[in-house]
This record gives sequence, structure tokens and C-alpha cells, in this order.
Amino acid sequence: PPVLDARGLYRSFGSTTALNGIDLQIALGQSLAIMGPSGSGKSTLLHALAGIELPDAGSIMLNLPGRAPVDIQGLKDKARTKLRREYFGFVFQSGLLIPELTAEENVAMALMINGVPRNAAIASAGSALAELGLTGMEQRRIGQLSGGQQQRVAIARAQVTGAMVVFADEPTGALDSTTGFEVLDTLLRCTVGAGKSLVMVTHDPNVAARCDRIVQLQDGQLTSDSLHPSNAAKD
Ligand code: ADP
Ligand code: ADP
Repeated sequence: PPVLDARGLYRSFGSTTALNGIDLQIALGQSLAIMGPSGSGKSTLLHALAGIELPDAGSIMLNLPGRAPVDIQGLKDKARTKLRREYFGFVFQSGLLIPELTAEENVAMALMINGVPRNAAIASAGSALAELGLTGMEQRRIGQLSGGQQQRVAIARAQVTGAMVVFADEPTGALDSTTGFEVLDTLLRCTVGAGKSLVMVTHDPNVAARCDRIVQLQDGQLTSDSLHPSNAAKD
């Protein structure tokens, strides 16, 4: 079964319909780009799939290998938060890293909120940062890192917990194109390269083209869904 299976998602804000009947199945190990004009519902869809802000109607099932299916909508807030921290990772354009903490502490934090003791968390964070080419940067505070380095710290944090689905909202949006593509390569390697799924909102067609699959949103509806020819086998 798909790792995420969303059916009939509907969400409105007052008289604005942000999601208007979305069905979307995402395979484990697939990278999916969500595209569409500003206001078409991309962020609302990402937040719904990630269990951050629930839709008004519809269902979202999470199917993890070796585990019973979970109805994300049916969970109480506390259980949903726990599930998110264990199985989902997040890489946003900026703002999710804590500036007062070092790179290593930011990554370790993701483990510590899941109950991993500090020393073990710091050790894992160090290895995760080293894998992403950030050896020597462990003790720097976020503001002392370049934009590309900050996004690599965010990627390390998103994957250190063993999350099976990583959600990214314009992860390269604040970077120049060369740095952006390096970060994108790193993000793909740490997610689909490791058998995880990547669900990414982007307005950049060149970024989307690196994904296995692209869906287009328009006025809260999916208007197109295309697989990258060389990755069609993954569907
Ligand atoms: P996108 O990410 O494609 O730009 P959004 O999902 O952010 O689109 O927004 C979809 C629509 O829902 C827009 O019309 C937006 O203004 C509206 N919207 C999103 N979030 C809220 C909110 N919290 N309150 C009111 N309107 C919202
Ligand atoms: P993005 O650049 O990812 O599309 P936005 O700037 O549209 O994000 O929205 C940022 C945040 O503001 C989101 O959490 C979204 O739900 C919320 N939001 C978007 N539109 C509105 C709105 N019209 N009124 C209130 N909140 C909104």
C-alpha cells in the first residue's frame, strides 16, 4: 500500500476553499513535487498530509512497513504530534532551526524530543552532520552558517530520527541556484536514496523535474499528475 493514502481532502478558510477534493497516494521511496500557482493550496495540502493542520473532511492513512495502518485524522493531538516526530521529517525554506543552539544541538533536539538521552543524541547528530559534509561545523550557531549549510543541518535533523516521510516546503527557495541544486541533491540522497519518501512544495520547474512525480494544483484541485519517465517503475 502507499505510505500516504489521502482521500477526499477538503479544507476551507471562511469563504476560501483551499483544498477541494484531493485524492493522492504516495509510494514509499517516491519523491513527489507539488506545484501550482500561489494560493492554489500547496501549503495547505502539505500541512494536511503531514498531520500539522487537519483538513475539514477526508481521510489520510499512513501505512508504514511492518506496522498497522494509522488514520492520521483519527488521532488525538498528542498522538499525532508523537507520530509526526517519529516518522516525519521537515525541511522548510527557513525558520525551523533554533538560532540559539549549535548545529549539533539542533539535530540532537529532534532525537531528544523522542526520548533519546542527550549524549546519544549528540553522538548521532555528529554522525548525521558528518554524512552531510558538515564536519567542523558542529559547534557553530545557525547564524554562523551559510544558507546552504543551514539547509543541510535541517536535512540532517529531518533524517536523524529515521523518519520515513520527509516534507519540504520550498527547501531551496532562499538559495542561489548552484547551492540550491547541491542542497536538492543532498535532500534526494537522504530521502529517496535511503528508501524514504519526499513530498516537496516547489514553484521551480527545474527543482520539480528532479522528482519522480509532479502533481499540479489549481484552486484546491489536482489538475495533473505525471511520473518522470525514468522513474515510472516506482509507481
Ligand atoms: P499555496 O501554498 O499554493 O500558495 P495555500 O495553501 O497557502 O496556497 O493557500 C490556499 C488558499 O487558502 C489561499 O487562498 C490562502 O489565502 C488560503 N489560506 C491558507 N491558509 C489560510 C489561513 N490560515 N487562513 C485563511 N486563509 C488561508
Ligand atoms: P507559502 O509561501 O508557503 O505559500 P504563505 O505565505 O502562503 O506560504 O502562508 C504562510 C502561512 O500563512 C501558512 O501557514 C498559511 O496557512 C498561512 N496563510 C496563508 N494565507 C493566509 C491568509 N489569507 N490568512 C491567514 N493565514 C494565511
